[in-house]
Parts: sequence; structure tokens; C-alpha cells
Amino acid sequence: MSKERIYLSSPHMGGTELKYIQEAFNQNWIAPLGPNVDNFEKELCAYSGAGHCAVLSSGTAAIHLALIILGVKRGDSVICSSFTFSASANPIVYQGAEPIFIDSEEQTWNMDPTLLEEALEDQIKEGRKPAAVIFVHLYGMPGKIEEIASICKKYEVPLIEDAAEALGSSYKGQKLGTFGDFGIYSFNGNKIITTSGGGALVSNNGEWIKKARFLATQARDQAPHYQHSEIGYNYRMSNIAAGIGRGQLQVLDEWADKRRAHYGFYKQNLRGKGFRFIEEPDKDYYSNRWLTTVLVDEKATGFDRETLRTELEKHNIETRPLWKPMHLQPVFSRYPSYGGKVSEHLFEKGLCLPSGSNLTVEQKQLIINKITTLL
Ligand SMILES: *Cc1c(COP(=O)(O)O)cnc(C)c1O
Repeated sequence: MSKERIYLSSPHMGGTELKYIQEAFNQNWIAPLGPNVDNFEKELCAYSGAGHCAVLSSGTAAIHLALIILGVKRGDSVICSSFTFSASANPIVYQGAEPIFIDSEEQTWNMDPTLLEEALEDQIKEGRKPAAVIFVHLYGMPGKIEEIASICKKYEVPLIEDAAEALGSSYKGQKLGTFGDFGIYSFNGNKIITTSGGGALVSNNGEWIKKARFLATQARDQAPHYQHSEIGYNYRMSNIAAGIGRGQLQVLDEWADKRRAHYGFYKQNLRGKGFRFIEEPDKDYYSNRWLTTVLVDEKATGFDRETLRTELEKHNIETRPLWKPMHLQPVFSRYPSYGGKVSEHLFEKGLCLPSGSNLTVEQKQLIINKITTLL
């Protein structure tokens, strides 16, 4: 097995990142503050249409700060998508609050608005209105965000949009992450663009973002000495990482085009052969296609998802099962959940295929060849 490994989603530099890092070195801004941090925040606002932005050490930190600023505390409950990566839900528990997990609808695989409303009604009847909703746009696909936002408005529950996988995706032309009270993005190494590790919190509420910057830099009061009236965090992004981010932002749309083309290629070559692809429901939905996913119909292909994954692994091709839902995770199994069948089915049948913007035509062809020889 001499072939170079084909990754699911590896970092892909655009070319201008080093220029911003060099500037930081020239000016000795090797710190979690500086011109790249300020400019990256401005550029992210301009790109997303969000009013305000704080860049942070991770997407997880962004969710954590959103919950703190919304006043989520011990004993509260917070509603969260079940079909997601654990980082969406972990900060709820950091705050001593209790997650309530909601299953997906079939069309976009994201949180089902009907189940959300049911959960809110139940909780309110019990005199325990949830303190927030964390809604995830998985694999870049926009969820039913208009319905979700109007339900949150009706029940007066704050909405946090986890758009960690959906930077560049939009609904009716509006960028995801800007529909709720807060939006979060991630720049982890495997995301559509990366700062090697990092995240951002966006909101139209400038006071909240100011508060996020304050909490992210150890909550230091205004005084000549070090004085603290609140518990702080060390969550700010470094000026070096922000330099990478500025370069990456310039190629984000191009990288999304490439990922969308990969999706088209896989679909064209595998459709009708026992693989099912998730479609954008209509032209209002625009996905960055962070990862192309397929559902394996065992009856038609003659093999299941795990067989496909292990066969591709033998050829040094990295794939990954779809996220295991949170309501099935040992660490979260004692918390309440609504529905579950939709995401359980997706987890059982689904596989993420290599989707990096740096994937070559030859690599894609090789992957198709390996899959079709199994049929
Ligand atoms: C990656 C990811 C996060 C966390 O982002 P980090 O920057 O890795 O902390 C949160 N939610 C989802 C859905 C993600 O995919």
C-alpha cells in the first residue's frame, strides 16, 4: 500500500496566509491580540453580514461564551440538536445545565421544528422553560432555520446557531449563523477553512460581543492593577492564527465551489447504484457541502456502511460514519430526548466521503473505482 493517504478533509491554504503571518512577525504581534485579530473580525462581519464578531480559540469556546452571556446556569435546561458533534452539547454541561436532545427531520437532517415545539410546550408546562436552543446546520446543509427562529421567538427562547460546519452556506441568500441571537463558526483543521484551530462568535448585539471579548481575556476590570469581578476565560484567538484566517477567508467561496463540485461528481457516479444523497430541498437552500455523505442501501449494494468504510480504509482512503447522535452517547444517555429514529437511521447507514477542497480529479476517480468494484 504505497498510495498516499486520501483524507476526509485536510487543511488547504490559499496562498496569502503567510503574508499576514509575516506582518505579525515583522511587528512582533505574537499575541492573542493585534491587527490580524481586529481585521479578521471585521472581514468575518463583512462576509457573513453579522453586525459584530469576536474571534476565539475554538468553536466550542464560542458556544460556551454564548451560553454564559445568555445567563445559562446550574439547573437550567438547554435544547440541542441530537444529530451533531459532541462539541455542540458539551458547553451546556460545562455550565451545570441539562441538555434536551431533539431528533432531525428527513429533509435536511437537522433539528425537527415540530419536535422542538413539542419539547418547549412540555418544558413550559412543567414550569421549566429552556434557557436556550442550540441549533446545528450539519455538514453545511441549512436546516429549517426560518421555522426554528419563529418558534424560538414565539416562546421567547434565545437561539444559538451552531454553523461550525456551515460557514459559507446560506438560506434565501442570508448567511447561516446570522439568523439567531448568536452564531458560531469553527476554524478547526478539518473545517472548510482553518486557522489551525479557532472559532468565532457573531451577533447583531454589540454589547454581547463586547462582553464575549471581556470574558475571553480573563474578565479583567478597568484598573491599573489586575482586578476581577467575574470569572474569566482564556479563549481569545492569537494574532498568528487570525493571520491564517484572513488568508483563508479570501478563498472560502472558491473552496465551497470545489466541495460542491465533489458532491456533484460523487452523485453522478454513484446515484442509482444503491447510494442515496441528501439534496438541497429547493433553491433557497445553499450548502457549502462541507462533507459529501452517502446513505448505503444494503439491499441494492450487497454491502453495508461498515464494509464500505473498512474496504476504503484498506486502500488508505479515509471516510467516517455520520455523527453518532447525542441521545445514544454514553455520556449523554441520561438526559431527555425527543424522537431519535431519523438520526439513528442516518448513523447506521451513512458515510462521509473524502471532500477536501484539495482533493484531485485522480483521487476522486480512484475513490469511485474502489467503490464500484465492490458492487
Ligand atoms: C467542529 C464543530 C464544533 C466545534 O468547533 P471547534 O472549533 O472544534 O471547537 C461545534 N459544532 C460542530 C457541529 C462542529 O462540527
